[in-house]
Amino acid sequence: MKFWRVPLDLDTVKIARGRVEVIKDRCKGCELCVRYCPRDVLRMSQTFNSRGYYYPEAVEEQNCVNCHFCEVLCPDFAIFSVEA
Ligand code: SF4
Ligand code: SF4
Repeated sequence: MKFWRVPLDLDTVKIARGRVEVIKDRCKGCELCVRYCPRDVLRMSQTFNSRGYYYPEAVEEQNCVNCHFCEVLCPDFAIFSVEA
């Protein structure tokens, strides 16, 4: 993100970092987490899980800010984030 000015408290702002975990065999491939992640961390896999669905994978994990949004959206409790 580009700021039009440098915030005065920039030195004190700490950006949270997260790590996302997928319980792939619970996933039903609805893609909600992938579509709505605000940081584009996730992509759908190229392979199936044991139920025959594509599941999310973290491809830009360094961008995860541990906001838990994917976790809240998932109807099957198949994804969660933790502090990195
Ligand atoms: S915790 Fe937030 S930033 Fe990280 S993968 Fe989930 S939705 Fe994306
Ligand atoms: S929201 Fe849940 S069920 Fe849907 S693709 Fe993501 S992990 Fe799978």
